[in-house]
Amino acid sequence: MVVGDIATGTDVLVIGAGPGGYVAAIRAAQLDLDVTLVEKETYGGTCLNHGCIPSKAFVTASSIAHDAREGEAMGIHADPAVDMKGMRSWKDDVVDQLTGGVEKLCKANGVNLVEGRAEFADANKVRVAHGGEGQGSESIEFEHAVVSTGSRPVQIPNFEFDGEHVLSSRDALALETLPESLVVVGAGYIGMELGTVFAKLGTDVTVVEMLDGALPGYEDDVARIVRKRAESLGIDFHFGEAAQGWEPAGEGITVRTEDADGEVSEFGAEKVLVAVGRTPVTDTLDLEAAGVETDERGFVPTDDRARTNVEHVYAVGDVAGEPMLAHKAMKEGHVAAEHIAGEPAALDHQSIPAAVFTDPEIGTVGLTEAEAEEEGFEPVVGTMPLRASGRALTLDDTDGFVRLVADGPSGFVLGAQIVAPEASELVAEVGLAIEMGATLEDVAATVHTHPTLSEAVMEAAANAQGHAIHTLNR
Ligand SMILES: Cc1cc2nc3c(=O)[nH]c(=O)nc-3n(C[C@H](O)[C@H](O)[C@H](O)COP(=O)(O)OP(=O)(O)OC[C@H]3O[C@@H](n4cnc5c(N)ncnc54)[C@H](O)[C@@H]3O)c2cc1C
Repeated sequence: MVVGDIATGTDVLVIGAGPGGYVAAIRAAQLDLDVTLVEKETYGGTCLNHGCIPSKAFVTASSIAHDAREGEAMGIHADPAVDMKGMRSWKDDVVDQLTGGVEKLCKANGVNLVEGRAEFADANKVRVAHGGEGQGSESIEFEHAVVSTGSRPVQIPNFEFDGEHVLSSRDALALETLPESLVVVGAGYIGMELGTVFAKLGTDVTVVEMLDGALPGYEDDVARIVRKRAESLGIDFHFGEAAQGWEPAGEGITVRTEDADGEVSEFGAEKVLVAVGRTPVTDTLDLEAAGVETDERGFVPTDDRARTNVEHVYAVGDVAGEPMLAHKAMKEGHVAAEHIAGEPAALDHQSIPAAVFTDPEIGTVGLTEAEAEEEGFEPVVGTMPLRASGRALTLDDTDGFVRLVADGPSGFVLGAQIVAPEASELVAEVGLAIEMGATLEDVAATVHTHPTLSEAVMEAAANAQGHAIHTLNR
C-alpha cells in the first residue's frame, strides 16, 4: 500500500546525518529553530559507521596485537591470536554506542528525525522516499536547507566493488575473517591506515600506488618515516604503477598493474582494497531543481558562511570540498546553523588540523615552511627529534619529530608537522596556538608536564628561538 504524499514544513531541513548534518541540526535546534533531519541510512554518516570510528577501533586493536608481539625487548613474551569476529563485534559495539548517542542527542534537542532519501523538488521543497516498497513518501517545505550528504569511495575502471574480492574501505571494515594477503590500491591516508592495520594483524600487504610516493600532499620527510615503518611491518610498496584490472586465481585473485613505460606486473592476493579517494554525493539529490550549482568534480562551492549560490541553501562537510574530514564537516555544520539563526558566524580554514593514524601518526596544522614563504612570511622553523624525548624512549617509539613553523619577525606560530605516537592529539596544542595568535615564546614558556610527548612541542618552539635545552640549536 502506498501511504500518500504528506506535506509538512520546517524552518531548517538538514539532509544527511553525518558529522556535518547532525551538528548543524542540533545547533540549529539549540538556537530555537524548528529542525528536520533526513537520513537514508544510519545516524552518524560515514564517520561513525564506515570511516573514522571503525577504522580507529581497528587501529587500536591491531596495535595491541602488534605491540604484544613486539614486546620482547621489554621482557614481554606473547603470541596473540587475532579473532576477527571478536574484533569486529567490539568495533560494532563502539559504533552502536555512538550512533545511538547521535540519535538520542538529536531527539533530546527537539530535532524531528525523518528516515528516507531526500531529493529536491524545488528551491523550497524536498521529497523524501521512505525506503522500501509501499513505504510511501512525503514532501517537506523549508525556509533553509543544509546539504550534508557526504561522499562515497571513488571506483576505478575494472575494479567494481563486490565486497568479496574487490573491497571498498567500508567492506574492509566489515570483514569477518582476516585475509591472508591483500593488495591495497592507493597510498593515500585511507590506504596507508588500513594497510597498516592489516599488516599488524598478520595479513601480507602489498600497496600499489600510481604516484611515486606514499601520502601525497605531505612533505617528503613526513611521508618517509611512515613509509619506512610500514615497510618494517612487511608492507611491500610499488610506486609508479597503475592498477589495470584483476582476475580470479585459485581461491584468490591476481591484480595487474602497469607503469609509465608500459611494463606490466602481477600481484597475487586473497583480496584487493581500492582506496583511491572519495567523491561527493551530489548526483542523487536533484540539486538542479533547487538551482544549486556544483563544480566540475561535483562539489558544491560555498562561501565562508557555508552558503551555496542559492542564499538559503547551505552545504557542509564532504559535499562542500576539501579537506574531506569529519572535524571540518562539524565546524561547517555549526557555522551554517548559527548563520541561519542570525548569529555572527564564519569559517576560518586557517587552522584545520589533519591527522593520519598510521604508525607513527601524522598530525599537521596550518602552514608548512614552503607555504609560509609563498604567503610572504619570513618563516623560522624549530624541530625536536623524538629520539631526544624521554617519553618517546619509554614508549619505545622514537621515529619522528615535532616541527613548528613561525613567522620570524613577529614570532607568531603558523603551523606544525608532527610525526609521532599520538601526533593526532599533539597537533591540537598547535591549532590552539595558531587560533589564539600565540608566539614561539608563549609556547616555549608554557610549562609542560614531564615526561610527555607534548614537551617536544615546547622544545621545538625553543629550538626555533635558538635556546632549546634537550636538542642542539641550529
Ligand atoms: C575509512 C575512512 C576513515 C576516515 N577517517 C577519518 C578520520 O580519522 N578523521 C576525519 O576527520 N575524517 C575521517 N574520514 C572522513 C570522514 O568520514 C568524512 O569527512 C565525514 O564523514 C564527512 O561528514 P559529512 O557529514 O560531510 O558526510 P557523511 O559522514 O558521509 O554523512 C552523509 C550522510 O548523508 C546521508 N545521505 C546521503 N544522501 C542522502 C539523501 N539523499 N537523503 C538522506 N540522506 C542522505 C548518508 O547516508 C550519510 O549518513 C574517514 C573516512 C573513511 C572512509
